[in-house]
Amino acid sequence: MNNIGVFQRCSNCGACYNLCPVNAISVKEDELFYRPIVDTEKCLNCGRCQTVCPVNAPQYKQKPVRAYAAIHDDERIVRSSSSGGVFRALADRTLEAGGIVYGAAYADGVQKVVMTSSEQVPLDQLQKSKYVESLVGLSFRDVKEQLEGGKSVLYCGAPCQIAGLKRFLGKEYDKLLTCDFSCGGMPSHKMYRQWLDWLAAKLKAPVAGVDFRPKTFGWRSHAVNVRGENGRTYVRLRGEDAYFYCFVEKHISVRDYCLECEFANNHYADIILADFWKHRSISKVANGDKGISLLIANSEKGERAVSAIAGQVALTTLDLESATYNLREKQIKEGFKEARSAFLEDCRSKGFILAAGPRKYNWKFRLKYRIKTLLGRN
Ligand SMILES: Cc1cc2nc3c(=O)[nH]c(=O)nc-3n(C[C@H](O)[C@H](O)[C@H](O)COP(=O)(O)OP(=O)(O)OC[C@H]3O[C@@H](n4cnc5c(N)ncnc54)[C@H](O)[C@@H]3O)c2cc1C
Repeated sequence: MNNIGVFQRCSNCGACYNLCPVNAISVKEDELFYRPIVDTEKCLNCGRCQTVCPVNAPQYKQKPVRAYAAIHDDERIVRSSSSGGVFRALADRTLEAGGIVYGAAYADGVQKVVMTSSEQVPLDQLQKSKYVESLVGLSFRDVKEQLEGGKSVLYCGAPCQIAGLKRFLGKEYDKLLTCDFSCGGMPSHKMYRQWLDWLAAKLKAPVAGVDFRPKTFGWRSHAVNVRGENGRTYVRLRGEDAYFYCFVEKHISVRDYCLECEFANNHYADIILADFWKHRSISKVANGDKGISLLIANSEKGERAVSAIAGQVALTTLDLESATYNLREKQIKEGFKEARSAFLEDCRSKGFILAAGPRKYNWKFRLKYRIKTLLGRN
């Protein structure tokens, strides 16, 4: 086994192991992250994994066509979505047309996140952001089969996963609609699991549900709501919880690849979604802190799909240049890489919870943080 060559820089997008004719590539776990590994005994040295890789051989370039602020008409859907509920509108439309929807859902209870389909789980389980690295598995092969069988497909995943899917398919399918999001990176699944263990001890029961974007304190505040099997809950704002803090506030728990992600500026998807945080400064759209999506049609097909959901979603056209602020490459601050390396080293030696410094999240800190956040000063 080795992980040489193309896998030196890898987003784990899934293109190679979906394409490999002899299934020589599999995803293993190292101390903190998932890593695709080649079984050299099975490998035919055909080189297809290297040419299909969107990191190794980038080629695609789509341009945003139009940008919108978008809010689903059904308030219950907005509440059960991370931002404005656009994904659910696209998904409903696909199902109405007899199609199939792929997205991220929890698996093994809540121990991992996998890309799966509306044939496997109800649609509401595909909604909402799960802030942990997801596994595409062999879902791309399944998508190809569905498309070849004449079915419409909506696939919504991270930008690297959509790049992987498109490169795996190798050609455009009229019946395929792809959707990704402005991605702040994929956090380590190992840190996530250690956090779940810590929560289980705190709640005195295994964790039964994780909701990363409950709108308990409003959309802008970002909270997490965890439920134990005994019905007890753990609800925190993003700065009050070690896992959320390391991801949303500090970005230090994400994979190496995410720090230099080339898909931040090169989205292969037809539609790009994001939280429309700047709704006040670049538009007059408001929704009482319930959530607004920034929706970018990134192809003519994407633009047609937007027109098709106009009956369920309130759309306001935005200035394209100002609206794509979210998609520009994020600047890495000085000293960030060194601080992150030290944190990862601590995670390896002491475990995530001790590395993240749980003392910081005591009641005094939380009280101060909560008051400041609710007064809008954070
Ligand atoms: C890891 C991650 C990081 C993000 N970072 C940012 C950011 O920095 N800035 C920003 O504006 N928006 C970010 N988003 C996107 C944002 O949180 C919303 O998902 C987006 O605005 C769509 O909201 P919605 O209400 O339309 O749909 P939702 O119902 O929230 O749908 C979300 C879609 O994302 C998919 N998804 C959820 N979790 C995962 C996962 N782990 N892997 C792959 N696909 C997943 C779901 O399948 C679903 O299709 C991020 C999302 C994720 C998952």
